[in-house]
Amino acid sequence: MTALTANWQATKARIAAASAAAGRPAGAARLIAVSKTFGADRVAETAAAGQRAFGENYLQEAIAKIEALRQSVPDLIWHFIGPIQSNKTRPVAEHFDWVHSLDRLKVAERLSAQRPDGLPPLNVLLQVNIDDENSKSGVSPAEAPALARAIAQLPRLALQGLMTIPRPAVGFEAQRAAFAALRRLRDQIAATGPALSELSMGMSSDLEAAIAEGATIVRVGTAIFGARQRNEPPGSPSNGRFAG
Ligand SMILES: *Cc1c(COP(=O)(O)O)cnc(C)c1O
Repeated sequence: MTALTANWQATKARIAAASAAAGRPAGAARLIAVSKTFGADRVAETAAAGQRAFGENYLQEAIAKIEALRQSVPDLIWHFIGPIQSNKTRPVAEHFDWVHSLDRLKVAERLSAQRPDGLPPLNVLLQVNIDDENSKSGVSPAEAPALARAIAQLPRLALQGLMTIPRPAVGFEAQRAAFAALRRLRDQIAATGPALSELSMGMSSDLEAAIAEGATIVRVGTAIFGARQRNEPPGSPSNGRFAG
């Protein structure tokens, strides 16, 4: 077994244990493998282990991988989780199955208009800035309900839920607070507006706390692929290194 396969299996086991500890069914939280900065070969290896959903942050890099794997691994599901520039919406609408990082109506309108007719509606999550005033990404909790209602009207988008990247926190209880806040916001929006079944929250260092608070999707990079080499272009040989 390769290190990557072992890491992936260990991550699946963490998710299963956290779900059981929370009294939730085994499949209650789905895993998205965040493959940013790692090459198509690593994605193919993770897919061979059994993973289908992959998350990417950088558009050019992502599209290169999607194209490279289209023939050899045709059944992958691609999630765009990075910031979206409003002049780069078309390739997102054309290449991805999900977008987690929607935080502006203008971008949502463009994605809806540009979603190709032959594809199902684009699944989207509203990114909420739940606790970090300094973050540039995400709609504020106060503005989220109105934005969710507006996005739910767009014909070629399927609004599925909320996503957040909380401020880093150490320890289970501290990590839980932001995830609980996102869950309450979801419940509040769903009470009067669009039903939002998905909560995309939890990463390598805090997925247990997120699952305890109801995460339905966790986005995990480092625990599967190892530490990312910053300041290196994607595909550099050293990006294949493993942290553990
Ligand atoms: C990079 C990234 C992740 C994965 O983070 P890890 O700590 O490596 O698991 C998850 N979500 C988003 C939005 C990311 O940018």
